[in-house]
Amino acid sequence: MKDIKRQFAVIGLGRFGTSVAVTLQMLGHEVLAIDTDEEQVQKIAEHVTHVVQADTTDENALHALGLRNFDAVVVAIGADVQANVATTLLLKEMGIPYIVAKARNALHGKMLEKIGADRVVYPERDMGQRVAHSLISANVLDYIELSPELSLVEVTVPAVLAGKTLQQANMRALYGVNVVAIKRFDHLIVPPQPQEQIQESDILIVIGATDGIKRLENLV
Ligand code: ATP
Repeated sequence: MKDIKRQFAVIGLGRFGTSVAVTLQMLGHEVLAIDTDEEQVQKIAEHVTHVVQADTTDENALHALGLRNFDAVVVAIGADVQANVATTLLLKEMGIPYIVAKARNALHGKMLEKIGADRVVYPERDMGQRVAHSLISANVLDYIELSPELSLVEVTVPAVLAGKTLQQANMRALYGVNVVAIKRFDHLIVPPQPQEQIQESDILIVIGATDGIKRLENLV
């Protein structure tokens, strides 16, 4: 089946916005990249479908961009919180089906949620957590906090678990976590069966309560 080409717009072409825009384009989609700064716009021009220099807090300028039929818009304006919030609000009023907005901190994130952003992201906070978790535990390859209570981690296999089946490892009872997938060489076992034997070279993708995940991270 042929992948569907979708239309995205990214507003604010700092490091984060640029990375989102270029990645979407590389994934085969149409990308409109927008910034007030002509220099930022020029830098990305040859890497995305369209670029426009515009101030998205200006309602007329925003309407002129014709974003209504886009699948999603990413608001990646950073330091100027007011511009970030105003842009998100105007996009919401225009009826954009899916808005992702970047927040600088928890209060900013709350505002964006109240306005109706469909997804609020905290790139610096999330990357900081991921790096910290991978530093404190030799097993952790990646860490994503889904909520303050729930996390998803990618871990190498602690020696105590190697050779056991998932049933024998009993991780749900011992740590309150679920193995949702096993990466074995270049394939993924999803969902793994209870009889699946954990191999030393596997990577486990685990979801569970944050304190259980912490205990799992400390296993050797
Ligand atoms: P990063 O960490 O992603 O590099 P940042 O968080 O430091 O970025 P800024 O550089 O403050 O974010 O903002 C990102 C971009 O948003 C800038 O290139 C800036 O010109 C653009 N921007 C700011 N206000 C507006 C606006 N009203 N309309 C469009 N773009 C804007």
